[in-house]
Amino acid sequence: MNQGLVAIVGRPNVGKSTLFNRLTKTNNAIIHNRPGVTRDRLYGTVTSVDEDGSGYSIIDTGGFETKDLYYQPFAKNIVWEQTEMAIEEADVVLMVLDAKAGLHPHDRELVQYLHKLEKRVIYVANKVDGQEQTPAMWEFYELGLDHIYNCSAAHNRGVWDLACAIEDELEKVNGTKLQLDHDGATKIALIGRPNAGKSSILNRLCGENRSLVSDVAGTTRDTIDTVISYNKKPYVLLDTAGVRRRKKISDKLEGLMVIKSLRAIEDADIVVIVITADEGMSDQDARLASLAADKYKPVLIVVNKWDLIPNKDSNTAREYELDLREKLADISYFPVLFTSCLENKRIHKILQEVEALATAYDKRVPTARLNEVLERAVHEHTPALIRKLNKRVKFYYATQVRTMPPTIVVKCNVAGEIQESYKRYLTKRFRKDLEFGKTPLRVLFRGKK
Ligand code: GDP
Ligand code: GDP
Repeated sequence: MNQGLVAIVGRPNVGKSTLFNRLTKTNNAIIHNRPGVTRDRLYGTVTSVDEDGSGYSIIDTGGFETKDLYYQPFAKNIVWEQTEMAIEEADVVLMVLDAKAGLHPHDRELVQYLHKLEKRVIYVANKVDGQEQTPAMWEFYELGLDHIYNCSAAHNRGVWDLACAIEDELEKVNGTKLQLDHDGATKIALIGRPNAGKSSILNRLCGENRSLVSDVAGTTRDTIDTVISYNKKPYVLLDTAGVRRRKKISDKLEGLMVIKSLRAIEDADIVVIVITADEGMSDQDARLASLAADKYKPVLIVVNKWDLIPNKDSNTAREYELDLREKLADISYFPVLFTSCLENKRIHKILQEVEALATAYDKRVPTARLNEVLERAVHEHTPALIRKLNKRVKFYYATQVRTMPPTIVVKCNVAGEIQESYKRYLTKRFRKDLEFGKTPLRVLFRGKK
């Protein structure tokens, strides 16, 4: 399982965005049907080279619009501030050098900066288009680094090796992080735009059973998490101090909020996205929901400030929900809740929904039952003929190989030939017929060995 957050840093024009596109490209097929993908891409998902359906998040710090400012990395400017935060939140940093341009004083500054942080950093010289090292590359040895990968993002050379190196580093990070987990408690992240009502919700969730609340050191550096109890089970509200503090920073720029949200999604078992009834779901909210779905994390959408909607009747919520689900396209199975902190309405339902999601997330179905459903689904809707092979995909059997996220492996004759639409159909049937509720399901198709 590969997961985590990677930040790409480096001077302008070294090829960060090109590399970002190269690394995330394989994921396009999965996200094309999702909201907000046409926007300038600042972050994305890289699917694991193991093809086990896992993946990690990656931030392109070159995606922050005002590139010129970046020329003075240590000047106090917002682009640098965002890069600094991306580095701070990242599990692994990928620093890109330009093998055509050679060493630049700003490269040296950035390397020194990273050294001080004791972060896991992978250095890569980009624009090595041919087999030969460029003369400029020798200059990089001055930096005294253990290893410098080389690649050509434009020509897709060395990118695979780099992708493997990133995953190796992430694995090391994940290995050490597990010990910091809170004894099997379900970890909840509250995300959403500033002023959506996150801290108000947090206060209510903690306030209602104050005696059961305790603050503990967070899983990431310098954060405070809060443990609460619901139905005798422990839940951890991640980075509670951050939620309260975040407002100040994220007012400045949404980019900062996004970085924090990416981190929260990585660390959480369940993601609660808070939006306001009057403003609705922003593209950014939808993209974050989409990213959580890519990571197979259950998401609860809370439409807060429901009190602001005037003249409500019995249809208002239903219609609002339909609009919302339309916006969410193929991740519309996420549960939606309408709340008001002001009137204290349905806030208590948040934990109820979270509990239902957590149960589904951890659910295991018997193999026999799973295969009944597979058989029926295929019988009711047979896959299309594969023209070039002049045959149909044959499904042999299915097994659930793990929970959190529930993961089903389907064995078949020609896994590579199944249409995406058919995969979606089977996934939907599994979710519905096996009552996985509103949690994302990971379904992997494997050919005969
Ligand atoms: P960023 O500012 O660091 O995000 O850099 P970009 O990805 O925008 O790339 C800057 C320029 O370098 C563009 O013109 C790219 O086409 C070019 N470039 C990126 N990667 C390579 C590469 O591997 N080889 C060559 N020759 N050019 C590249
Ligand atoms: P955060 O930035 O997401 O943590 O948002 P806050 O919890 O600080 O709330 C922002 C503002 O919205 C505050 O003035 C709250 O009092 C207000 N607020 C929060 N929840 C509600 C609600 O349900 N209805 C209304 N009308 N206002 C709310």
